[in-house]
Amino acid sequence: MAEIIDLNLRHKHQRRKLEDQAKQRAAAVASALSCGLCPRRCAHCGMAIENPVIPPPEAPYPFCSPCLEEYQAFRRLEDGQGEPEAYWHSPRWAEMWRYWLKHMKACDDFRSSAEFLRLMREHQEQS
Ligand SMILES: [Zn+2]
Repeated sequence: MAEIIDLNLRHKHQRRKLEDQAKQRAAAVASALSCGLCPRRCAHCGMAIENPVIPPPEAPYPFCSPCLEEYQAFRRLEDGQGEPEAYWHSPRWAEMWRYWLKHMKACDDFRSSAEFLRLMREHQEQS
């Protein structure tokens, strides 16, 4: 009898441990994506934007001035206009921008999914 009680207790502890781990993972996903876009932070480098302005229509995210210039240089090169403006404007630099933009789009899509909205709702109810 004592063994059965001990086994039940162990299962209960294991279940609670798994539930706690699942909560921590949910919290990590929620916090990583809930503050993903802030108009006062550069979406690319994370620096605070001193004087936020409405981003130009061609800029999909709030950028600080240097990152906006880099993004615009990337766009010009992608559109076949002009030459690289700096030595680091290499094919890998352009690839970095392409993947970063895809990553941001994937985050936007996930943020607007039913699963993420449910995660945020449940996360807020627990905190
Ligand atoms: Zn920046």
